[in-house]
Amino acid sequence: MAYAPPPPDPSLPPLRVNLYSDTQTKPTAGMRAAIAAAEVGDEQSGADPTVNLLCERMARLLGKEAAMFLPSGTMCNEVAILTHCRPGDEILAHKTAHIAMAEGGAPWALAGARVVPLEGPHGIFDTATLAAAFRPRTRYAPPQALVAVEQTSNLGGGAVWPLASLTEIAAAAHEAGLAAHMDGARLMNAVVASGVPAHEMAAGYDSVWLDFTKGLGAPVGAVLAGSASFIDAAWRWKQRLGGSLRQAGICAAACLYALDHNIDRLAEDHENARLLARGLAQIPGITVELPETNLVFFDTSGTGMPADRLAAQARRQGVHISVMGKFRGRACLHLDVDRAGVEEAVAVLRMAAAAKMAA
Ligand SMILES: *Cc1c(COP(=O)(O)O)cnc(C)c1O
Repeated sequence: MAYAPPPPDPSLPPLRVNLYSDTQTKPTAGMRAAIAAAEVGDEQSGADPTVNLLCERMARLLGKEAAMFLPSGTMCNEVAILTHCRPGDEILAHKTAHIAMAEGGAPWALAGARVVPLEGPHGIFDTATLAAAFRPRTRYAPPQALVAVEQTSNLGGGAVWPLASLTEIAAAAHEAGLAAHMDGARLMNAVVASGVPAHEMAAGYDSVWLDFTKGLGAPVGAVLAGSASFIDAAWRWKQRLGGSLRQAGICAAACLYALDHNIDRLAEDHENARLLARGLAQIPGITVELPETNLVFFDTSGTGMPADRLAAQARRQGVHISVMGKFRGRACLHLDVDRAGVEEAVAVLRMAAAAKMAA
């Protein structure tokens, strides 16, 4: 369950360590220079050279024929769903999937397609679970159109789908006559953590996208890829949703900069996540899920303090974490948090948790 971010509170001290989300990075001086130097044109008529370059590079990276630039990952998911599904269709996805939990009900509201929630540990479901959810095509039951996976699984704790599972799930979807979609918001975190190239992970998928505003550190933008005919059909939805842009090279330049500078360094975020997890695990009353990538989920129940109280106390000391359940907290590592920041966050959270234990 995702909780809403707290409203801004001017009485709080400035943030020192922002672990709230990997979306909160600020563009670096190098990225801002790339933005300033971007060649631009009319994106929606295919005349922005920087967007075109980004889309070519992303199609190659993801092993697809074509790609399109969109303002956000949410729009990538929804353009893909609108392209794959018709009203009345069903989408099979993990019960914690972003499309089910955090897009304002858009699959239902915009595509008229219901998300059927599947079970499985760490945001990952297996082929047996998927097969059990398939039903024969009849004129009575809602048609099943799409299987969606999330690499990495956000609410699954940043878990990485193994390549074999991705391949099996896509093959099972196709065998049953459904399309396969990959929400690759943090795909490059999975690539860096596993060493498996992005195009291999995405090989069985009819659509896949990558977010540039998570750990890659860009201010705006995501790229959706697929076959030439899929991207052609997706363009109508991009246009309908107001996602067709003008001088978007300003944004694409930051994404190109991220491709060149901010992928390999994701390994540092993963290392910092493990460091944070080890530190949190030593705080009495806190239990930590072992992080596979840059997200660290932990349980505060042993402290007697709900996660929102712990988060509020930590925020008063300049450390920002997010709250994902009554006793479930999340800390996200990214390029604006270094080792010293992790150590400071552990110290602050330790004091906040101890205050309650003592009381
Ligand atoms: C953040 C996120 C999205 C949405 O991306 P935005 O760029 O914030 O719209 C979709 N899926 C997952 C798994 C995410 O973490």
